[in-house]
Amino acid sequence: MKIYNTLTRQKEEFKPIEEGKVRMYVCGPTVYNLIHIGNARPMIVFDTVRRYMEYAGYQVNYVSNFTDVDDKIIKAAIEQGVTAEDISKKFIEECKKDMKGLNVKEATKHPLATEEISGMIEMISTLIEKGYAYDKNGTVYFRTRKFDHYGDLSRKNIDDLEAGHRDIKVAGEDDKEDPLDFVLWKPKKEGEPFWESPWSEGRPGWHIECSVMSKKYLGDSIDIHAGGEDLIFPHHSNEIAQSEAANGVQFSRYWMHNGFLNIDNKKMSKSLGNFFTVRDISEKYDLQVLRFFMLSAHYRSPINFSAELMEAAKNGLDRILTAVDKLDRVLPVLEEKELTAEEKSGLETIQLLVKKFNDSMEDDFNTADAISAIFEMVKFANVNVAETSAKAFAQSIKDTITKLTDVLGIITEKEEELLDEDIEKLIEERQQARKDKNFARADEIRNTLSDMGIILEDTREGVKWKRA
Ligand code: AMP
Ligand code: ZN
Repeated sequence: MKIYNTLTRQKEEFKPIEEGKVRMYVCGPTVYNLIHIGNARPMIVFDTVRRYMEYAGYQVNYVSNFTDVDDKIIKAAIEQGVTAEDISKKFIEECKKDMKGLNVKEATKHPLATEEISGMIEMISTLIEKGYAYDKNGTVYFRTRKFDHYGDLSRKNIDDLEAGHRDIKVAGEDDKEDPLDFVLWKPKKEGEPFWESPWSEGRPGWHIECSVMSKKYLGDSIDIHAGGEDLIFPHHSNEIAQSEAANGVQFSRYWMHNGFLNIDNKKMSKSLGNFFTVRDISEKYDLQVLRFFMLSAHYRSPINFSAELMEAAKNGLDRILTAVDKLDRVLPVLEEKELTAEEKSGLETIQLLVKKFNDSMEDDFNTADAISAIFEMVKFANVNVAETSAKAFAQSIKDTITKLTDVLGIITEKEEELLDEDIEKLIEERQQARKDKNFARADEIRNTLSDMGIILEDTREGVKWKRA
């Protein structure tokens, strides 16, 4: 499996720290509003990475935080006359609803920054002890220049960074030793949420959160750290500096970054006001369409959001759903018979397409090509499955399509509620089969019903049934 590693700017063979296991951390959203579809992109693409790794046999420990203390949350709370906690709790719940709609699996752990403050105080203390951080009037700063590899991930030259920061130093807006130093802990302002610490009553900086939550739930060294490409600098650069200075080992082996979701070639963002929330989109489309739309492009490429592309995604997804639906309808009437030579070779074609899917995903998660392999299967099914086909032939194609769409997090099977009248029809058919001494068919019906959670009871008054 090859992964493009931002740290080395090349595709590398994936080798986990521990055989068969993946430790993965994805920076989550700041929860002060409904998430927009740009925020949904990392959720969808890294959930797909996770799903593919699980399909490939890895056990994935997937951690993704919610940033639930931050200036924007506090600002929203003040504006709305509620507490910061009210805001963050509400939008975590809303975000989880959106994630469910997008079929993003729950993380193994979704830590909240506000529940991990003691770990942050501990790591900041370690950094101070090791000379990587200092306290100035209750604010703790990281001594950026002391960390030799600061520019490795961003490929930024530290002296260029300094030039960019000089105006701050000249204006004397803070009392950092160096304009490059960043905040680990800051004192509260009036009315803000705060925690006790050795330096001041205050709260942590954003970057330290992820270093601490990653360490706590995944260990000092992890396999993959991921997020949108805007996080490369400063967020991920600062995380590396903090974690490696404190722990003395490499923080993450692979760094993965998704490209931006743009509108009119500008990054979609809350601050520019050029955004659609996931909730807006859900009013017009099934959110699976949005997921399919995101996966139709490579995760590192920018995507320009447009109504036309969403319609194209909807049509593409419909083609797959319709084919699976057709297979579902034809399957009950197909005969269980030997496969013909043609059908056997057809299944070999399907296996070649599975290989195409796997090869595409192994090549830095090329979901666009993986989807085209699924389209080819769909086309094959449409052309080759008929009412005369062997059941095993159609079943195998359907199972393959369903399995691969599931790797992409696309649900092809509607869970249909079995209606009472359908159940009764099947029971009648079973009674007839027994009269005809066709016990095999009678048992088959009992098993089908039992798979659907229907329990039959043969009584003197006839057959009774109930839902399990
Ligand atoms: P934020 O809440 O701004 O910290 O963003 C949460 C995640 O969404 C981060 O991984 C960001 O990089 C990502 N993100 C924000 N806007 C976009 C966008 N327009 N396209 C892609 N990813 C984005
Ligand atoms: Zn982070």
